[in-house]
Amino acid sequence: LTQKEEYCVVILGLDNAGKTTYLEAAKTKFTKNYKGMNPAKITTTVGLNIGTIDVSGVRLNFWDLGGQQELQSLWDKYYQESHGVIYVIDSNDRERMDESKEIFDKMIKNELLSGVPLLILANKQDLPDVMGVRDIKPVFQQSGALIGRRDCLTMPVSALTGEGVNEGIIWLVEAIK
Ligand code: GDP
Repeated sequence: LTQKEEYCVVILGLDNAGKTTYLEAAKTKFTKNYKGMNPAKITTTVGLNIGTIDVSGVRLNFWDLGGQQELQSLWDKYYQESHGVIYVIDSNDRERMDESKEIFDKMIKNELLSGVPLLILANKQDLPDVMGVRDIKPVFQQSGALIGRRDCLTMPVSALTGEGVNEGIIWLVEAIK
């Protein structure tokens, strides 16, 4: 009997970006018979949500970290153990795009994460008139030098409808393996 390989993935982004909803959607997609939380009942993360999914022969342990300012200082402690990062952006929140970019930069500057594959999600694409990947990518690519040589993909997603959730997880697994 061989033990499944396990990897840890942190899910980061501002509060209200959709991190918890995304994790629920991923669990729903990749877990047989999983009846997810009612999206209407998901509230913003305070502290930590944990989730596990098995995909492509490996196990992924997710840490969905609270995005509030007071909690951002805790992120470092998880970085050390992380094999992948998912950064979630609320594509509908133009007002907080700069704020999101700021904490994104702080995150990718962290030595503990250098070389770790990075999946950037332009979330909430089900809403009308949101920023598309075409608008969001250049904002976050200003950090190109910092992103450096790690594998990085920016993709559109809706955590609410599940659109794009599969593709992102599968890309990340392949990048991590
Ligand atoms: P977190 O604080 O980053 O964990 O964000 P949550 O997962 O709690 O989501 C914050 C709010 O955004 C909730 O009201 C969600 O229902 C909503 N939300 C999350 N993802 C989506 C999405 O893809 N589309 C829409 N329309 N709403 C979303």
